[in-house]
Amino acid sequence: MEIAQKHRPFIVAIDGPAGSGKTTTAKALARDLGFIYVDTGAMYRAVALFAMRRGVPITEQEAICALLPDVDIRLERIDGEQHTLLNGDNVEAHIRTQEMSKAASDISAIPCVREAMVDLQRKAARGAQGAVLEGRDIGTVVFPDSRCKVFLVADADTRALRRKLQLEENGIPSDLATIRREIEERDRNDAEREHSPLRKAKDAIEVETTNTTIDEQVSMILSLVKRRIDQFQKGIIE
Ligand code: C5P
Repeated sequence: MEIAQKHRPFIVAIDGPAGSGKTTTAKALARDLGFIYVDTGAMYRAVALFAMRRGVPITEQEAICALLPDVDIRLERIDGEQHTLLNGDNVEAHIRTQEMSKAASDISAIPCVREAMVDLQRKAARGAQGAVLEGRDIGTVVFPDSRCKVFLVADADTRALRRKLQLEENGIPSDLATIRREIEERDRNDAEREHSPLRKAKDAIEVETTNTTIDEQVSMILSLVKRRIDQFQKGIIE
């Protein structure tokens, strides 16, 4: 799809809590629209892994900030899938565990980490015709002027079940009750932190996905995004 850029890429911001279907939705949108896809959670996970490997506890904020100049994170497409490279190493298989989910949530509350990752996320979209970014603060902080913002929500039971299936697909056995507890804890952590808490942007469209299949969810959001692109092309929105 050809989109006149008018100086900045067409950004689709997909925010929401863990397990709300952001990844599947964002990947499908990017594929269909020919936009680049940026998984911002992967970046926080990679920083958390780096800190863990260096033996720096996440509670030591200053030491964590001092690590950042040594961290090089790249998101690359390998065989059609996005992989996270940490200082050149493909760490995709290491960053998806529940342990790293918790560590990423904790490290993402540190202001210097957020600043560095937001900078990286803005750079990742620079120069693209369009980009789909998924995270917690895309519509509020990373690209507050994005032309299309979606906030996904679903009840905790549904999200826990989706996360369990996802982990099992990656060969990580898991217990539903534990996942549900961890998801709720992470929601609380992400929503109550001082810097860039998980929050729906005022101009985001909220999509409730508890009772929709992933196909329904994707096709509903895709038509919503296409409507926004159409409005942009017709000059109805800037
Ligand atoms: O999306 P994902 O579950 O991979 O994110 C891992 C953690 O990274 C989240 O729980 C959240 O604390 C943090 N995160 C964030 N801001 C983003 C993306 C993720 O704080 N834009």
